[in-house]
Amino acid sequence: MGLTLHTSNERETELLGRCLSGFLEPGDVVVLSGDLGAGKTHFVKGVAEGLGVPESVTSPTFNILLVHPGRLTLYHLDLYRLERAEQLEDIDFWGTLEAGGVSFIEWGDRFPEALPDDHLDIVIDREDVERRRFDVAASGERSAGLAVDWVRTCGQQEVPE
Ligand code: ADP
Ligand code: MG
Repeated sequence: MGLTLHTSNERETELLGRCLSGFLEPGDVVVLSGDLGAGKTHFVKGVAEGLGVPESVTSPTFNILLVHPGRLTLYHLDLYRLERAEQLEDIDFWGTLEAGGVSFIEWGDRFPEALPDDHLDIVIDREDVERRRFDVAASGERSAGLAVDWVRTCGQQEVPE
């Protein structure tokens, strides 16, 4: 199943994430792929906003994992700097994913073997300076439901005037 969404600026990407947050359930895993500057972190900023996370969300590139308590706990991971899959154990990767919060994993596609069977894949492509394409693919029953709810409800989001 493949679904596609577009945004025209940074705020629209945040709103797309904020809108997704309304459908999240404990244990959900979302993998974000795309080049540096694609908009993965901005998307997660919007998710955090929707989950009522009070602090500001920054890139976890140097920390690998940042934990943000909210309506659901947001586990924000960035695997860019990991060199080997074994290092995932150091951050208790699997324990984190199963801790009852929601996990957003930037560069999760670097370690495909490590991902749980059921997760949502979002690939962000830079089509222009500000235009982004989001290719959404689900790998299991739960993420398929999440994808459909999200795209159906949030696909036409625009930044309010
Ligand atoms: P990544 O985490 O994928 O490396 P970031 O979210 O940190 O990307 O950065 C995205 C950059 O692209 C920011 O500088 C942001 O202002 C810019 N940008 C421009 N248009 C968009 C858009 N439509 N969505 C997200 N970011 C955008
Ligand atoms: Mg990032």
